[in-house]
Amino acid sequence: METTLTNKGTIKNQPPTKTTCAAIQKRAKEMEADTVRFLSDLVRTQSFSSKEKDVIAVIKKEMENIGFDEIRIDGLGNIIGRIGAGKRVIAFDGHVDTVYPGDLSQWDSDPFKPFVKDGKLWGRGTVDQKGGVATMIHAARLIKELGLNDQFAIYFTGTVMEEDCDGLCWQYLLNEEKLKPELVVITEPTNMNIYRGHRGRMEIRVEVKGRSCHGSAPERGDNAIYKIARIALEIEKLNERLKGDPFLGKGTVTISEVKSSSPSLCAVADEAGIHLDRRLTYGETKESAIAEVKDAAARAGYSDAKVYVLKYEEAAYTGKVYPTEKYYPTWALDENSPYLKSAVDAYVGVLGKRPLVDKWTFSTNSVAIAGMKGIPSFGLGPGNEVYAHAVNEACPVEHLSGAVAFYAAFVAKLNGKV
Ligand SMILES: [Zn+2]
Repeated sequence: METTLTNKGTIKNQPPTKTTCAAIQKRAKEMEADTVRFLSDLVRTQSFSSKEKDVIAVIKKEMENIGFDEIRIDGLGNIIGRIGAGKRVIAFDGHVDTVYPGDLSQWDSDPFKPFVKDGKLWGRGTVDQKGGVATMIHAARLIKELGLNDQFAIYFTGTVMEEDCDGLCWQYLLNEEKLKPELVVITEPTNMNIYRGHRGRMEIRVEVKGRSCHGSAPERGDNAIYKIARIALEIEKLNERLKGDPFLGKGTVTISEVKSSSPSLCAVADEAGIHLDRRLTYGETKESAIAEVKDAAARAGYSDAKVYVLKYEEAAYTGKVYPTEKYYPTWALDENSPYLKSAVDAYVGVLGKRPLVDKWTFSTNSVAIAGMKGIPSFGLGPGNEVYAHAVNEACPVEHLSGAVAFYAAFVAKLNGKV
């Protein structure tokens, strides 16, 4: 940063009007050790879904030290930091919760004692996705230091409960906090590629009733298990019929659970149900998916089967319950989107090669942002998604400075400064 003495003798920051990608790259690299330090602080602070209070405090402190223009924590417990006060609004999002480590004996080291080895930072959440959280916040610092933004209010959201119910946090930000971004950049891991969509999903329950009677004379009753079994076989056929999409791939449906009840183990079952994991491709909606399952039940001869979408109603760490249906719509950003073009240009500028533009295999908060609300979204994040939710999770250190540089260069690009 250039500094000049004003006529009053005090030092005033004089941000350069035209910055180069080289300056962004250089500064991101200089900051790399400190980004590793911040990410290590986040990893050390356990934050499973609905238990994110402590990590939110760590992020708040970092935002305060950087000098964010506004920092607040909403009713669901999301942290919202803003830099800039331009008329246009964009957001960067990273969820702050992680999944549990699982069987600790399968880890080579303590997942909550991060360390650098072989050019990687090791620990739970380094990839999914505290690496994205640390780098977007340090990008804010770089954007401020180099004066890369004057047209935008830029929100950096550290969001909660994503691992349990993707997009719920953003339903809250959009519906209750009235955040109105024209674009949201997702910082979930992409192995430093640019991703512009993923399949959606939903959880569906199918239930049938039977009529119980003594197990010694089953002909007197009507066994609910035989009914649900016939429906289950129709679900298998439905999966074969589902359509594909050239970019997102094929929709799928599978059965993840069967449950039944009867008055005793010597009685005909009076109730049975199956739980469906449905992945939705482009063009498939909640309505179309439900209609297909009702049709499958009818093909089995049971058009009276009850078919419905499950609800999520867990409490956040703040105590807030914000119920939603377990429907996470498909989304994809148009491949000709000007935002995508700016992202590719910024990428080439600071990372020196053309990015692979692809899609996530898993689901992200953009099910609410883009899937429900139609707000343009794309993502780039440090770390390879194959290590998400896996033991010995580790993120390459060079991805960290790379992501900081990319986010800053993208903002500079939107501001016409690179
Ligand atoms: Zn994630």
